Amino acid sequence: MAHTINFTPGPSQLYFTVEDHTRQAFKAQIPSRSHRSSQFEGIFKSATEGLRTLLNIPDNFCIVFTGSATEIWERIIQNLTGHTSHHFVNGAFSQKFYDTALQLNRQPTITLVPAGKGFTEPGNIPVTELIALTHNETSTGVSLPLHVLQNIRNNNPAALVAVDAVSSLPHPEFDYSTFDSVFFSVQKGFGLPAGLGVWIVNEKCLAKAELLVSKGISIGSYHTLPSLIAHAKKNQTPATPNVLGIYLLSKVVEDMNRRGIQTIRRETEYKAAIVYQALDSHPLIRAFVQEPDIRSKTVLVAECGEHTTALAQHLLQRGMLPGDGYGAQKKTQLRFANFPAHSKEQYEMLTDALQAFRG
Ligand SMILES: *Cc1c(COP(=O)(O)O)cnc(C)c1O
Repeated sequence: MAHTINFTPGPSQLYFTVEDHTRQAFKAQIPSRSHRSSQFEGIFKSATEGLRTLLNIPDNFCIVFTGSATEIWERIIQNLTGHTSHHFVNGAFSQKFYDTALQLNRQPTITLVPAGKGFTEPGNIPVTELIALTHNETSTGVSLPLHVLQNIRNNNPAALVAVDAVSSLPHPEFDYSTFDSVFFSVQKGFGLPAGLGVWIVNEKCLAKAELLVSKGISIGSYHTLPSLIAHAKKNQTPATPNVLGIYLLSKVVEDMNRRGIQTIRRETEYKAAIVYQALDSHPLIRAFVQEPDIRSKTVLVAECGEHTTALAQHLLQRGMLPGDGYGAQKKTQLRFANFPAHSKEQYEMLTDALQAFRG
């Protein structure tokens, strides 16, 4: 039986090789291997080196693993700030990053715009230890233009910059000099089972965590940045990690490197373009984000109003599962993940089905 195509942003459709890699992992008893074994160190090394190639990560950045991206929000606030952080908030995920700072008793400041809007200029930011940005706001389908990221960086040279790229990587081609940290979890663009966060940090982040410790400020106890990095240098982790998840990541990254990141990027852009075109020319539904510069290429949001249920039904009948609108938009919007696991053919099918929909 053919699977329903899963366009939900997360967990999203599995990358097409995941099932075989999982079978292979169990055959080789990978999930029962000690995380202190040389076999695990080889898996760790293969995952991090593969990611370095795929995402063109420079040598001054270290790659460490956590349980989720939500965990990384907390680790960033704990390890990279003593008192302040500034958050660009335009939806539920960027809001949660800000809330994490509040919950940890920091004094975060905020630049807030309504849902569906984004940031097209750097604006004025108070002096702060850390600037928190969300490259792709998954709840609304708004992305941060890379030239704005660059300007924010240039205007605030003393602050660390952290970028949540959970629902956009591996698509964006980042300039790593524009931030100090970037992170994602694997159940979105990498098409893997959930339960693994990937945190990429430069030497300035480590120095900041060590400075906080030297001042007697707590950076927590679980997964502190200095211990994550010290272990990563030995291709290890402080606690027993999601060994299966790291193994599957190494394999899918290998597959993506074979396919080529430029091909993945080109296909992502083609798929986004045909669906936005269908939405822009449709008589009943439209793209939620109207400004082309901030439209996400990887999470496409359709404003469907009273047609939402009928459209979802129309797509399901054709073997396609759309993502619900987020939170309050559940009854009026549908979201479509556009990840490497979604083929061109699947996106052409989706485009045809959207065009054929007449309520
Ligand atoms: C899904 C998501 C998260 C949270 O990821 P988890 O792995 O569930 O913790 C954070 N930020 C963004 C932008 C997301 O889309």
